[in-house]
Amino acid sequence: MKILAATLAVVLLSAASNSAFRPPPAVAVRRRFNLSPLKSSIIADEEVDCIVIGSGIGGLSCAGLLAATGRTVKVLEKHYEIGGCAHEFYMDLNGKTVPSASIKNLSERKDLFHFEAGPSLYSGLSDERSPNPLKHIFQMIEEEPEWITYDQWGAFLPEAPEGYQMSIGAENFLKILRTYGGEEAVEDWEMLAKSLRPMASGIKGIPHAAIRSDAGIFLTVGAKYPKSFYNVLRYAPAFSESFDLDELGLKSEFLRNYLDMLAFLLQGLPANQTLKVVMAFMVDDFFKENAVMDFPKGGSGALMGALARGVTKRKGCSVDISTAVDEVIIENNRAIGVRLAKSGKIIRAKEAVISNADLTNTFNFVPEGVSPNFDEERKKFLGNTNNPKDGSVPYCKSFMHLHLGVKSELIPEDAPPQWTVVQDWSKGIEFIGNVVVVSVGSKLDQSMAPPGYHVIHAYTAGNEPYEDWEQFEHLMDDAAARDKDEAYQAFKNARAQPIWDAIQKRAPAVTKESVTVEKVATPLTHARFLSRHRGNYGLAIPPGDEGFSFPGVTTPIEGYYRCGDSTTSGIGVPATASSGALCANSIMSVWEQLELNSKIKMPIGYGQGPFSN
Ligand SMILES: Cc1cc2nc3c(=O)[nH]c(=O)nc-3n(C[C@H](O)[C@H](O)[C@H](O)COP(=O)(O)OP(=O)(O)OC[C@H]3O[C@@H](n4cnc5c(N)ncnc54)[C@H](O)[C@@H]3O)c2cc1C
Repeated sequence: MKILAATLAVVLLSAASNSAFRPPPAVAVRRRFNLSPLKSSIIADEEVDCIVIGSGIGGLSCAGLLAATGRTVKVLEKHYEIGGCAHEFYMDLNGKTVPSASIKNLSERKDLFHFEAGPSLYSGLSDERSPNPLKHIFQMIEEEPEWITYDQWGAFLPEAPEGYQMSIGAENFLKILRTYGGEEAVEDWEMLAKSLRPMASGIKGIPHAAIRSDAGIFLTVGAKYPKSFYNVLRYAPAFSESFDLDELGLKSEFLRNYLDMLAFLLQGLPANQTLKVVMAFMVDDFFKENAVMDFPKGGSGALMGALARGVTKRKGCSVDISTAVDEVIIENNRAIGVRLAKSGKIIRAKEAVISNADLTNTFNFVPEGVSPNFDEERKKFLGNTNNPKDGSVPYCKSFMHLHLGVKSELIPEDAPPQWTVVQDWSKGIEFIGNVVVVSVGSKLDQSMAPPGYHVIHAYTAGNEPYEDWEQFEHLMDDAAARDKDEAYQAFKNARAQPIWDAIQKRAPAVTKESVTVEKVATPLTHARFLSRHRGNYGLAIPPGDEGFSFPGVTTPIEGYYRCGDSTTSGIGVPATASSGALCANSIMSVWEQLELNSKIKMPIGYGQGPFSN
């Protein structure tokens, strides 16, 4: 959504780019003939067409699409599990971590807890035809996980301390509004839905994975989805507006708070700092007739596994785990390869180096002084200390997580697979521990826990400030010291308490004493395992911010690209998948893109109806 607004602005202002319209490559040999051979003096240990640093959703989406064009692609991942924020890790019944590389067969996997590190809420993926960009990536790479659908959702809100549990969808949402917000909430909702629906139908008429940031967009989107394209252009300014609840005339306190919560769960920022178009997309998706939620069979690990297969099934392509990149090598303002951290090995990239790492790492991979324009960008975003207090780009807060393995009988049979708890609206949605999401993946797919057990992933939704954890940074890489440090343990337990409370709202028998396996993750865990600066959830740049706008997928260095949640598209599963596609599209020609895009299945009628009625 953010992509469209930003991209269209750039494209319309820029002249037609030559590279976009490179002639179509010979069908049999789809390699880049348009590149002059590299004259570097550096001796490489290996050479591929493209290197992707990081196996998050953005990185693997980008890599899979590039691999599907016939390029050789190497994904280099620092962690021992693929997936970044969306990775899964495995533990046995004794609480011992079992890296997936050491799991030999499926039967071993059955006896392990599958802990998801990040996303648990997905929609628009089980339908064969959908506007969801991740669905389109799966269609283009011809790999996909199996989808489980469900519609039960639970919530404990200040107005509903005893909680409610019902199906999602338009009718039940009206019931919730009427019960807890009265007629005012219903009227406000109807007014809001009416004003957002045209925007939603406009934005959903264009597959985001077909967008490119050069004039080729007139072929990949303009020629294929002319009406939607026209309408999006016509209403382009509205796409960068924020979701201002006052301006929209919403009076109902309940609805305002509810929308704040949804925006925060989606993007890590309250409603008035979220794009109106993002909210329009979401409101349309969650509250339509017969809405369902989707869940990948096997959890987020299976989703990432499908994206990885899109790379590894292609000749000359690979996804290497436990392989950290130390430096991107630049010669004459062009990225020519990477140097690996431990081995010092050099891998050359004939065409592109793409960073899916967070913004800080993406800058730090390039030594200062090799590209003045890149240095200028670095200075603008990171400032002198890379701390928002000193004027760096603002970052979303971090997370606290509880990963629990419990005996099945500890969770009531009639509990929903997921529930959300908000303690107190008056404290603000961003207040520490105020909003918690609880997900019991094994209620949707029993194979995520050993037989007779459930697996719980519960987390505070991006409201844990890193500053509070700075005092323990010295313990980050030393598990034994952390275990012994009483102040650290006490602080960690205090910050995890709201998560225990949230779990116990629906499953009171789940206690510290009754669980089989317990793992607490903190902002330091995010910083360490996901290599995210100050454990951030993404950049907190509100719409219309005068100081910062999200960086694009191209950089001032030729052949150096970036994707993921610190680029134009922003935070969340669909957004980061979009960023991967936008990045890949910047590298491939229009003709290659058109061939891949022919596999996208949009809902019938989308892109054809007018936007303005
Ligand atoms: C707890 C949590 C819950 C969430 N819930 C939802 C949800 O329900 N729905 C939703 O839509 N979104 C959700 N999100 C957001 C979504 O998961 C993220 O926006 C998305 O996964 C980010 O993907 P990414 O590609 O930007 O990067 P990342 O996932 O950050 O991946 C970047 C990768 O780069 C690697 N890397 C970094 N440095 C190096 C290096 N030097 N060498 C090699 N590799 C390196 C990292 O190890 C990492 O694997 C959630 C996020 C979190 C944290």
